[in-house]
Amino acid sequence: MKIIIFGPQGSGKGTQAKLLSEKLNIPHISTGKIFRDNIEEQTDLGKEAQKYMAQGNLVPDDLVIALIKDRLAETDCSDGFILDGYPRTMPQAESLDAIIKLDLALEIWIPDEEAIHRISQRRSCSVCGEIFHLSHKPPKVESVCDKCGGKLIVRDDDQEKAIKQRLASYHKLTEPLIDHYKVQDIYMKIDGRPAIEAVKESIFEIFKQLKLID
Ligand code: AMP
Repeated sequence: MKIIIFGPQGSGKGTQAKLLSEKLNIPHISTGKIFRDNIEEQTDLGKEAQKYMAQGNLVPDDLVIALIKDRLAETDCSDGFILDGYPRTMPQAESLDAIIKLDLALEIWIPDEEAIHRISQRRSCSVCGEIFHLSHKPPKVESVCDKCGGKLIVRDDDQEKAIKQRLASYHKLTEPLIDHYKVQDIYMKIDGRPAIEAVKESIFEIFKQLKLID
């Protein structure tokens, strides 16, 4: 099963993509995570991506498209995958259409005010990348990662100025995907405002109705 999940920052798409990937036993591929890992390791790709990400801008299409083409060619993707955060622009969507046929394009929607509120509460581990939320998933010890003991930070791209820039890019560049996938009759929209578990149930319900899971 080949699925994409998209939605504004803070919509919970990463969390839901992870839950779905466990349920369906197919890989969860997050372009944001791939870039963050590369930044951490200071690879050439990471250094290039960091220039854009820190400002809240999208990484240029040619870089992301090449990265995803290679990733989807790996053997673990042969039974399907969940793409989280890709495609984010029309050129990315068109290049994906050229290599595979998607089964579902799921948008997790939240309003901008909710996105800004949620992201301002987000803290990420500077070592392992684990994400915490000051209200919904606080760390046991303030500013310390439960998983690895690393220091929790506000990511550059989670600073308020960058969040606003990221939301503007989302509306301008990513929302046109809605019509693109409606035409292909594979678009579904989920309200991302409820709690994680409730959103998960709504998504699983859609999958049951579509007979994609039992
Ligand atoms: P995410 O974790 O999905 O919110 O992604 C974090 C950041 O990585 C984004 O704000 C972009 O700068 C970059 N990024 C991730 N996926 C893409 C993509 N498909 N196209 C361009 N930039 C991306």
